[in-house]
Amino acid sequence: METRTTETRIDERIVVKVGDLTREDVDAIVNAANSALLGGGGVDGAIHRAGGPAIVAECREIRRTQHPHGLPTGEAVITTGGKLVARHVIHTVGPIYGQNGGRDAALLAACYVNSVALAAKHGLASIAFPAISTGVYGYPKPEAARVARAALAKALDEHAGIREVRLVFFAPEDAKTFVENA
Ligand code: ADP
Repeated sequence: METRTTETRIDERIVVKVGDLTREDVDAIVNAANSALLGGGGVDGAIHRAGGPAIVAECREIRRTQHPHGLPTGEAVITTGGKLVARHVIHTVGPIYGQNGGRDAALLAACYVNSVALAAKHGLASIAFPAISTGVYGYPKPEAARVARAALAKALDEHAGIREVRLVFFAPEDAKTFVENA
């Protein structure tokens, strides 16, 4: 019988899987947010719908107290997970591809590195990511895979407390593209 594997372990601490990020049972899921932090389309909308209003309430407070002009690209902040299985959401803003004066890769890498660092700072052990910037923000998926993999290798070296990173893709072909290019 053919077995359909939906998980591929690409490193001792990194798993690539097919699924819905909003249902992941981890300490934190990462949101591919926009700088306004008030919700949006794609994975951002899905997270806010599933997690309920407690998330956006904390986001508003973060805007008011720390980032009145919005969260800069590449940075990350943490909120409750609201009604999600995950206790926390880490919101990071990916680069809009081609609009950063050649700094796309550095900014995308910063999203992964800063999200892992923030999780570690809060004593978390497991974190799940979507493919940041590869939807509406237009980052080519093979290139994004290489950037994500390298950034995570660096971040995990620095943060031994992070025991498991899950890279979650809605589409099986996107997971395959990641594994083939990372
Ligand atoms: P961005 O604006 O950073 O490009 P998007 O939300 O448009 O972010 O897309 C990022 C990626 O997340 C896309 O590859 C999209 O298919 C994927 N995605 C959207 N919803 C989910 C979900 N619930 N679980 C996992 N991946 C998702």
